Amino acid sequence: MGTANSKSPKAEPQVVMMGLDSAGKTTLLYKLKGHQQVQTLPTVGFNVEPLEAPGNLSLTLWDVGGQPQLRASWKDYLEGTDILVYVLDSTDKARLPEAVTALLEVLASPSMAGVPLLVLANKQEAPDALPLLEIRDRLGLERLQEHRWELRACSALTGEGLSEALKSLSRLLKPRSHLYHL
Ligand code: GDP
Repeated sequence: MGTANSKSPKAEPQVVMMGLDSAGKTTLLYKLKGHQQVQTLPTVGFNVEPLEAPGNLSLTLWDVGGQPQLRASWKDYLEGTDILVYVLDSTDKARLPEAVTALLEVLASPSMAGVPLLVLANKQEAPDALPLLEIRDRLGLERLQEHRWELRACSALTGEGLSEALKSLSRLLKPRSHLYHL
């Protein structure tokens, strides 16, 4: 597959982390970075974060949804993405359809052709969180033919599921890894 992520060799894998506002992206980043200080460099609608665990990754953090005016410029920034990490708030049943729509829009960008996808069902420690299987069904991930994907449950609050999520990330970054679903 000739895709944007298979062009020139780069020192650091380019990770784009997206999700609706309040999905828990910032909390997740703090948790992943341990006690290191997280410096955000706010630009128009996204932040660029150097993430030092679990290796050298260059991470861009985006809020998606509710800002269609920004979407036209996405393609310029998505080019060269090696993996998309999509964070969902498992407790926000009302906005799950919006989260799915925003995800599909991102994946439809030509820059995202063949880019693997890691979906993190965050806030799973909350008593009212949707079960992972229900989230999988509602997302319709099985229908994604063009992308290798994994779905993981996690809690940015407790740290539960994050080491598995990082393993998924490494696995998906390997160009020849097989499909690993639930
Ligand atoms: P962002 O807009 O995606 O960056 O979301 P934030 O990281 O700012 O989180 C939004 C809200 O969700 C905050 O009040 C967080 O404390 C809360 N939150 C984030 N992760 C979790 C989680 O795993 N469980 C619970 N219960 N709340 C979380």
